[in-house]
Order: sequence, then C-alpha cells, then structure tokens
Amino acid sequence: MSNVKEIKTTCGLDCPDACGIVANDGQIKADREHPTSNGALCALLNKYMFEEPRIKTAKINGKEVSLDEALNATKEALDTDSKLLWRGSGNFGVMQEITNLLFEKIEGTTTKGTLCDGSGDAGIVEGRGVNRILPPEQIAKAEVVVVWGKNITATASHLMPYLKDKQIIVIDPVKTAIAKKADLFVQITPRSDFFVAIMLARFALMGNFEDLEYLEEHAPDYDEYYDFSQEFRIRPILDHIGTDLKEMGKILEMIKDKKTVFLVGNGVQKYSTGGQVLQAIDSLAVILGKFGKEGCGVGFLGNSKLNFKNPFEVKTTKVEKVNTAFGEFETVLIQGGNPVASMPNSSRVIEELKKTNTIIYYGVYENETSAMADIVIPAKNFFEKRDVRLSYAHHTVNPMRKIEESNYGISEYDFTNT
Ligand code: SF4
Repeated sequence: MSNVKEIKTTCGLDCPDACGIVANDGQIKADREHPTSNGALCALLNKYMFEEPRIKTAKINGKEVSLDEALNATKEALDTDSKLLWRGSGNFGVMQEITNLLFEKIEGTTTKGTLCDGSGDAGIVEGRGVNRILPPEQIAKAEVVVVWGKNITATASHLMPYLKDKQIIVIDPVKTAIAKKADLFVQITPRSDFFVAIMLARFALMGNFEDLEYLEEHAPDYDEYYDFSQEFRIRPILDHIGTDLKEMGKILEMIKDKKTVFLVGNGVQKYSTGGQVLQAIDSLAVILGKFGKEGCGVGFLGNSKLNFKNPFEVKTTKVEKVNTAFGEFETVLIQGGNPVASMPNSSRVIEELKKTNTIIYYGVYENETSAMADIVIPAKNFFEKRDVRLSYAHHTVNPMRKIEESNYGISEYDFTNT
C-alpha cells in the first residue's frame, strides 16, 4: 500500500458487520469508534484478500491484451439484442450497481433476487410486511439471546461482545463454538427448524407463556395459529426434531418475562420451504411478545436498502438470479461474482454458460467462472476507488474511501462510462 495519512474507510466484503477501518501509512486496522468493528478485523480482510492473486491484465480468449482492446471487444459483444448482466455481491459497495444504468441504456436484461437470503426475506416480508434490521444496540439490551442456526463466532464475530453476560440458548444441528458455551444447547435434526418454531409456539400457548396483552393488540386472531399448530402431532414431531417436552419447556422458561432476541442464521432458510421457517420463528416471537419492544426482536439479514433511494434501480427486464438460464443469452457479463461456484447445481450452470456466444468476466480475482470467460476485464478492489456501503445488520451508512492507487483494473464507474 502507498503511504497515506489516516483515512477512515469501510470493509466492502459481503458481510453483515461492514467494519470500519482506519488506514494509516499503508497499514489497516479496525476503527474502534465503529459500532461493529470493536477493535479487530477478520482474517478475510487482514490476510486472504491480499494473498489471493489479482487479475492484473485484460484477456481475450486467454491471451493478454490491453484494457482498451478488451473494452472494445466488450462493446462489440454487447451490441446484440440478447445480453445479460449477472452481478455477484463480493463487493457490497452501492457503486457496484452503476452497471445497471449501462444495461438499462442498451436494453439488456438484469437479475433479481439473491443467492443468499431471498427465501428467508420473502417469509419475513410475507409476515411483517417489511424486513427490518435488528441493530446491535437492541441486541445489547436483551437479557436472553437465542442463537438459531447461526455460527456466530465465525460469521458475525463482531456481535460477540454484545452477547456478553447474557443467557444464551443455541438451537442448531451442529455443536458450534457458541453452542459449547451456551446456557442451553438444543441439538436438532437438520431441516427441522420449522417444526421447532411451531412446537414452541404451541407449547407457549398451551402453557401460558404467551404475551396476551401484546397479542390482543397486535395479533388478535392468534388462536387461529394455535389451531394451525395442532395439525402437527406432538410425539412424532418431537422425535423428528430430536428433542423432548422437557427441553422445549426449558427454552420457554428461560425466555419467559425476559427481553429476548432471536439471531437467525442463513442456513435455516436454504430449502424450498425456507420462507416458512422465518415466518414460523417470527410467529413464535410474536406469541411470546418479543417484537417491537426494547431488547427484543428477530434478527435475520435485514433489508440494507430499506428507505434508501437507490440511484441504480432500473426498469430493465429481469430474470431470477438463483436459476438464471444463461444459455438464453448471446452475451453474458458477469461482474464480481462466481456463478459456477456459488449458484446451485454447478454442472447446470457450466452447461448453460457453454451455450452463450460470449462470456465477459469483470472482476478482481480469477475463479471458476473467469476460467470460462472469452473476455476478462480486471476490476479495482474497494481500497482503490470511492464508494459507500450499507449493512444488513446495522444502520450505519459507511463511506468507502480510496486509500491506495493501483495501476491496473477499472472502476465500475469508468467501465460504465467507457
Ligand atoms: S468481519 Fe466482515 S466486515 Fe469485518 S473485516 Fe471481516 S469481512 Fe470485513
């Protein structure tokens, strides 16, 4: 890194923490004033991001070419009626989306949805109407934290200080690091999260654990949910989950009359019924009256763009990101992503990509998808350009300042304007 005086910036990696960074004389360290960085950056940023070899030179059909040659070839390849922009989320900066404007202008197709949290988000929106963030300051006020299918020490390590001195309940098929320290660990059968939530709601209503005042005000038809929960037979469902009445009762006893947050991981919704899992966990929290109160709530990946006026929202034709049929397009521009590795069914994705005429890969690192590309354009990383990012776990709007120059790569802004 070049010698620069102290500059505050933000980690751009697709991670809920969106850590603040202080760059000083070529060194980076965590911004202690940032709500989630609290003194340390993770190994992804400290180590792996710099160890991974960068794409430094543009290529056409595997041969190194000048950036201008590759950009001209890109322009020609996009001069077709059938072109798709498929963007990954390796860099979470808002400016990454400026390429939407290009595709709107040239009447191309873009994608909708995500590979990550779309199912859970849909379930939450179905129930609550909106998927709000549960910010760390509310987690800090909780007395009990239910960590549900979330390997928090690995995937949201900066939340750990907020869990200090609280009662911890972990519901997870895997005995994670946090499960080993928990006051109660309920090890469940994989994919049984929905049934756990339904059974807990049912037992809460049977055992007077519900918050009647809250229900009368916010969900007066809650008895219909009790009827629904009765469709599930207790004994076989508990056997399927791998738990018993005593353990279920213990969870409810620990939560009763306590400010409680539920921190829900991504894995619980990675099935075709994933939306229902989040809806069932939300419903449980409603029955227990753990919504809309200080120190309470259900935290999943919130909508980072809620109330954000996105200048890159465009009215293009859109296809689903999760199962994109690449083969239906002549030219596919893949920006900052690796669909071959990150989309479901890699073999199908490879076959689909083979059907296209031209694959343009625009990114920072080589990967399985760049290896298939006809044209490769090197991008700048988030330390080499200006941007701003939002978070799906806290409300801070985070500036991403340029902290170093690089002689290679092109920013999305320049790419779009070229
Ligand atoms: S925890 Fe997340 S936001 Fe923080 S440095 Fe690591 S990847 Fe970046």
